This record gives sequence, C-alpha cells and structure tokens, in this order.
Amino acid sequence: MSDPQGPAAGCGTAELLEEKILADYPRMGPDDRFSFDCHPGVSCFSCCCSDVNIFLSPYDVLRLKRRLGLTSGEFLDRHTLLPVQKEMKTPAVLLRMKDDEARTCPFLGAEGCTVYGDRPWPCRMYPLGLASQKDTTDGWRGEHFYFLLEEEVCKGFEEDRERTVREWLDEQGMDAYDDWGEGYKELTLHGFFETGGTLSEKKLEMFFTACYDLDKFRAFVFDSTLLQRFDVDEDFVEDMRRNDEALLRFAFLWLRFSLFGEDTVRLKPEILEAFKGTVEKRKIFAQAPAGVAGGTAP
Ligand code: SF4
Ligand code: SF4
Repeated sequence: MSDPQGPAAGCGTAELLEEKILADYPRMGPDDRFSFDCHPGVSCFSCCCSDVNIFLSPYDVLRLKRRLGLTSGEFLDRHTLLPVQKEMKTPAVLLRMKDDEARTCPFLGAEGCTVYGDRPWPCRMYPLGLASQKDTTDGWRGEHFYFLLEEEVCKGFEEDRERTVREWLDEQGMDAYDDWGEGYKELTLHGFFETGGTLSEKKLEMFFTACYDLDKFRAFVFDSTLLQRFDVDEDFVEDMRRNDEALLRFAFLWLRFSLFGEDTVRLKPEILEAFKGTVEKRKIFAQAPAGVAGGTAP
C-alpha cells in the first residue's frame, strides 16, 4: 500500500502514517457509515485550524489564489512554504501558518474558515483519509480505500449525525478535486520515478511552475514559441488565455510530454518535417522566457 493521504488535522507525513494505517485502521468503502459532524456548535470548533501541515495540490492553489484575487506568484510568496527534502522527487507546497504562538491558519477568522468554499483538499476530507493500493497491476489507479482519522482533540465524533463515506464526499464537493487529483498523480506517481528516475533541477523548476505558478506558466505558453511549434487546438488555446483550469489541464499534458516523453503534446507536422531535415534542433526548441525552464525535445 502507498499514498496514504491524511486530513488537515494532525496530518503528519504520508510515510509515518503508512504503517499505522496498514496495521490499525479499518478500511472503508463508499457505502460504509460513520458518525461525525463539524459545525460552529462543537466545543472544539476551529481548533484543528492551527499548528497543522496542509500540503496543497495544484488545484488547491488555483482555487485559493483566485478566491483571494492574487496572482499565483503572490499567493505562493505570501501563503506557502516549499519544504525541501533530499528524498523528494517532485516539489511540495505547504500552506504557511501564521507566526503566532498557535501557528494559526491565515484563513481562520472569528466565524471559522474565511475561504470555506475554496478550502484545500485536506480540510474537506477530514475526518476521512484516502489510501491507494499501488501494488496492483494498474498501480495507483487500482484499489483504494478510505479510513477514519480520529484525532483526540476532535469532538466531532461525539455527534450523532451519521453518513456514508459517499455522502460525506458529496457534501464536501470532492468530485471536482478527484479529477485533478488523478491528473496530478499521473505525474507524481509516474512510472519514471518507480524505475528510479530523478528530475534535474531545471525540470523540477518546470514541474513547479506548470503545476503551481500558473500565471508564470501562462507567460511561458504565450510569450515563447511553444504554440508555434506544437499542435494545440485553437479553441483550447483561447481558453487557456483566461481560464486557469484549461491552463492547468495543458500543464499536466505538457509535463507528461516534456518530463516523461509521453505523446500528450504533438509537434506541428511542418516542424516535425523541418526537424527531420535541415533546421537545427536548437532553433526549433528555442529558449523559453527568462526564469522558466524550457521543454525537452521529443
Ligand atoms: S483553510 Fe480553512 S478549514 Fe483549512 S485550516 Fe485554514 S481555516 Fe481551517
Ligand atoms: S469537530 Fe473536529 S474537524 Fe470540526 S472543528 Fe472540531 S476538531 Fe476540527
């Protein structure tokens, strides 16, 4: 088993949770029921919004920066930390807590979460965690299960309201997040890493920019020669100019092409022809704007 994804409250590292989940946590499916509720009336209301490690997905950043009216760069500067650990294969982005003694979430207000409609994935999931079975034939797409993380501080488990796992996920609006989560896993759990592959510093920078710094990635797409070289549907290109979701979708495809050599983005036929002929490779793969790592040749 791998890829246990814990909730916000008390979320430690995935590695630390993995063995404990395997040994101790009952596995739950969509129709399993549990008693839990969280509302302003619980005595612990908001206490799980401090001193907590919340890893943000690209879609979390997209939703939050839009909610706050910030560019992706401003959001990353103001609200995130980028932990660097030797064994990390892809970039990680952590929500930066305030510098107060309690390490309070910057989005916690007097009435609760001020970004509730766009709160990150872990804040939606709690008290559920999700784990995927990676040792199945189709890897992380294989069997996955949910589990309950009962934090001592959380009084929500004393509430009578009962729901199925499926009902909880529906109420939390997880559908939208699931699709993006799958797309992101196609990158972070790519077979390239399974076979010991590592990304150069330049490629890690591209990974980070494309996934998290969308406004900078937009500049890369539109201010470089990328669209002259690659066959991207015109309507989709127009969509990417204004729509962050379309851009993030392209970012995932671009990374699968440029990092792992997948056939997710194609060169224009005339460029391919030129590439076979006299035009030098370095002319086709012109440099990206300063500060953005360029893609690789196919
Ligand atoms: S984003 Fe909202 S729900 Fe999540 S920790 Fe911060 S205040 Fe709490
Ligand atoms: S009930 Fe649990 S999830 Fe809700 S505020 Fe209390 S500690 Fe947080």
